[in-house]
Amino acid sequence: MAGPTTINNRGPCFWCLKAIKWIPVLFIVVIIAWSYYAYVGQLCLDTVKSTAKQIVYLIFYHMFFIMLCWSYWQTIFTEIGRVPLKYKIDDADFRTLTITESAEAQRQILENISRHLPNTNINIQGFPRFCDKCKIIKPDRTHHCSVCGECVLKMDHHCPWINNCVSFTNYKFFLLFLGYALCYCIYVALTSLPYFIDFWKGSLEGPGRFHILFLFFVAIMFGVSLISLFCYHCYLVSENRTTLEAFRPPIFRTGPDKRGFSLGRYNNFQEVFGDNPKTWFIPVKTSLGDGIEFPLNSRHQANSYQSMDNTQNSNREVDSETSKLNSVEIVT
Ligand SMILES: [Zn+2]
Ligand SMILES: [Zn+2]
Repeated sequence: MAGPTTINNRGPCFWCLKAIKWIPVLFIVVIIAWSYYAYVGQLCLDTVKSTAKQIVYLIFYHMFFIMLCWSYWQTIFTEIGRVPLKYKIDDADFRTLTITESAEAQRQILENISRHLPNTNINIQGFPRFCDKCKIIKPDRTHHCSVCGECVLKMDHHCPWINNCVSFTNYKFFLLFLGYALCYCIYVALTSLPYFIDFWKGSLEGPGRFHILFLFFVAIMFGVSLISLFCYHCYLVSENRTTLEAFRPPIFRTGPDKRGFSLGRYNNFQEVFGDNPKTWFIPVKTSLGDGIEFPLNSRHQANSYQSMDNTQNSNREVDSETSKLNSVEIVT
């Protein structure tokens, strides 16, 4: 579905704003490019004396560098997941919705529009979730991004460092980017540490020594900032929860449930990384599902994916009565 940005409002300001949004990405690209020059040129080729050490340093460095750049590229340039047309509220229904004052009547209209849609979440007033800007019924876990100007499937958050939404389509890439960036920083910091110490001892010669000094500082600084973010997202993956859901749990017919999409740690991991271990750590699309329908925790509904046959929900307190009731509600 096209967003509200149309050809009419693409004036000079629109293009200026669009260009400004790329500045944080440019900043990261410049840092990565400079770190490449400092590590390969100044540290490995000009400072490290042993050829064997140079080769080992460069091989591992390039492995991390390539994976980092590849996952960063994928995170930035993977398009957000857009809401399918069948979720659109047609103009007549939308007009009726806006002129209707009674909340109950509005609820009835929305229930009627969404009766064939596989949604399980509702809003805080108990209505089917809808977006009045995009004029759509929101699929589960979809949220409107004010920066992108449209609704985004399984939105996690909008990230200025990638100038894109972190969402269903690129969440795996984003996690890999954080993971590889952290490995890159740790590797660069550890391998440059002996030369950093030499600098303070005064035994490091040549103009390149300042590059090595800053390389160590920058690697530590970025490494420290990345570690908490990476650990937090690992926790969210293990719980099958988005950042937005961590702040505001999704609301089901039975009430809010922050663990409503949790299928057990291993299945939660597979939801994002896929079911083939060979592709887990490669930045190619392997996430399960379509970003529109999601298997639910067994307290809400039986899982739908084949890979979920052995769902590990033993740690769940399954209220079988509630589960049955919900299944009936969803079928009807
Ligand atoms: Zn929207
Ligand atoms: Zn966005």
